[in-house]
Amino acid sequence: MEVIEQVSALRAIVTALRCGGKRIGFVPTMGALHEGHLQLLRASARENDVTICSVFVNPTQFNNASDYKLYPRTLEQDISLLQSVGCDYLFAPSAEEIYPQQSVLQFSFGELEAVMEGAHRPGHFNGVATVVSKLFHIVQPHKAYFGQKDLQQVAIVRQLVRALSFDLELVCYPTVREADGLAMSSRNKRLSDAQRQQAPQLYKALQLAAADLKQKPVAAIRSEVAQKLQQVEELELEYFEIVDSLTLQPLQDISGQEEVALCIAAFVGEVRLIDNMLVNLKEG
Ligand code: AMP
Repeated sequence: MEVIEQVSALRAIVTALRCGGKRIGFVPTMGALHEGHLQLLRASARENDVTICSVFVNPTQFNNASDYKLYPRTLEQDISLLQSVGCDYLFAPSAEEIYPQQSVLQFSFGELEAVMEGAHRPGHFNGVATVVSKLFHIVQPHKAYFGQKDLQQVAIVRQLVRALSFDLELVCYPTVREADGLAMSSRNKRLSDAQRQQAPQLYKALQLAAADLKQKPVAAIRSEVAQKLQQVEELELEYFEIVDSLTLQPLQDISGQEEVALCIAAFVGEVRLIDNMLVNLKEG
């Protein structure tokens, strides 16, 4: 695997690959790789001639300076993991390489960014859209791989791809979890042992809500989840929403819905975690 830090070097490689008729799969990440990322990389290696992974902790998508500073950075370990899953190129640029001048681009995603992550992390999706657009222009992939773990991000990127006519296919893979249900996340590395014990309560709350969906009204489920999580010592719930799985707009009533998404965000100590679950209401 070749490690590339310069945009110009990667552009030259991509041009040669495309001229040679190669199909390019792309997995954008912020590094501190785990099985959730590796699943995307394996899929890309299977489905394309060449796989490019980016590891870039994108400063413009952090609305919290300490979250950016403390974000885990484990490049050496990432390189060996990438080699083990057949990645061909790692693009690991500096912040100056991606942002030679301060970005003033403004994106708007309408009602899609007015809820959940968009509402609680001002500027977050603007930063995501900026970096994803830049990376798509540089890497020019045929297929780009994202995780359902960041459900709203997938919806935003889908809208971005349509709005800017990027000529690529978006591929989304399910959330990979630890044995106790905790969604894998690079931020899990920042949890203390005690916090790590408590963190699976997020997923437990989603399971509880899913089990109640057909029996109880939305408002009752919301207060049940809030109450349950209030009992977890180091956990502070930021939001729990039951939303339409496509528009991601919160629902007060699920009658007539085919599929909903249960979405949750909470601080466990200082670490902010998110999770979600899709529930098909037509089955069973
Ligand atoms: P990140 O490095 O957190 O920006 O994530 C890079 C990509 O991996 C994003 O598309 C994420 O949604 C995806 N991802 C992160 N964690 C998981 C997980 N536990 N399961 C599936 N995909 C994930």
